[in-house]
Amino acid sequence: MSALEDKKKKGLVFNIQKYSVHDGPGIRTIVFLKGCPLSCNWCSNPESQRREPELAFNPGRCLTFSKCTRCLQACLRGAIIREADDSLRIERALCEGCPKHCAEACPSQGLIVYGEERTVDDVLKVVEQDAAFYTRSSGGMTLSGGEPLLQADFALALLRESRRRRIKTAVETCGMVPWKTLEAASEYLNYVLYDIKHMDAGAHEAQTGRSNEIILENFRKLAELAPDRPILARTPVIPGFNDSVEAITAIAEFLRPFPNVRYEMLPYHRLGTQKYHFLDRVPPMEEVTLDKSVMPRLIDAARNILGDRVEIVK
Ligand code: SF4
Ligand code: SF4
Repeated sequence: MSALEDKKKKGLVFNIQKYSVHDGPGIRTIVFLKGCPLSCNWCSNPESQRREPELAFNPGRCLTFSKCTRCLQACLRGAIIREADDSLRIERALCEGCPKHCAEACPSQGLIVYGEERTVDDVLKVVEQDAAFYTRSSGGMTLSGGEPLLQADFALALLRESRRRRIKTAVETCGMVPWKTLEAASEYLNYVLYDIKHMDAGAHEAQTGRSNEIILENFRKLAELAPDRPILARTPVIPGFNDSVEAITAIAEFLRPFPNVRYEMLPYHRLGTQKYHFLDRVPPMEEVTLDKSVMPRLIDAARNILGDRVEIVK
């Protein structure tokens, strides 16, 4: 693929976040691509899951009670309904998630459309703004999501073009993608963050909607394909799912043979709950909390197998 063709490739991006220090080495810019093959019950980025643009409505920011009607006038499909008490409701069956209409008209960011078509060149122009920070900190760009490799053509073009521009790259993947996509991406990746959520296929499917066989097989192949490239395997610790010594021990045993793999556990949090409501969805785990006193035991269990390859989240 030529540089010119790559630069013009388009994909659906729902956020570009600068100055991140949590998703790969150094200071990074995270590019969030829309769409995910899994539907994890604990997902804190529900706006990432669907492949199409989505409108979120935050009633706390809306000025409708001050008689603002801008979005009602801007919507060409009559998808915004004003109720008798002046509150707004989105008629989801009519809404097309079009960024240039209601969200652009809203003066208070009460409406946000997640998912905008952007070119590789456009995205990398934003990423390149912080090139000096990457050089000083060994940082770069991380593709995240959703599952960034679901938009395979776009993600691969972003990675190739980053390599041409000497920007170091990382991907945050759930691993549920065709091996040929991961293999093609591997050539352009300096660092990989890879979720391993559970070793039991049935438990995995019950909470994420998909079995873990492809994910585990892809992980093995990826770790062996480039044995010198660092991989950070990550487990979100979810109450009633994998917050047990047995579950973490099984994951750590799986990771043990791969010396290039480090391991991190991320305690469950509910920070994404409100976003489900803004999208008119029910948060699957709204009432659930993690007893964080379990974490030292889980860390010890992982360390018994992986030693100092276990990272501690501060
Ligand atoms: S995203 Fe488009 S269709 Fe949906 S409410 Fe806004 S303007 Fe109407
Ligand atoms: S344009 Fe924004 S502030 Fe005005 S009514 Fe619509 S959502 Fe509310």
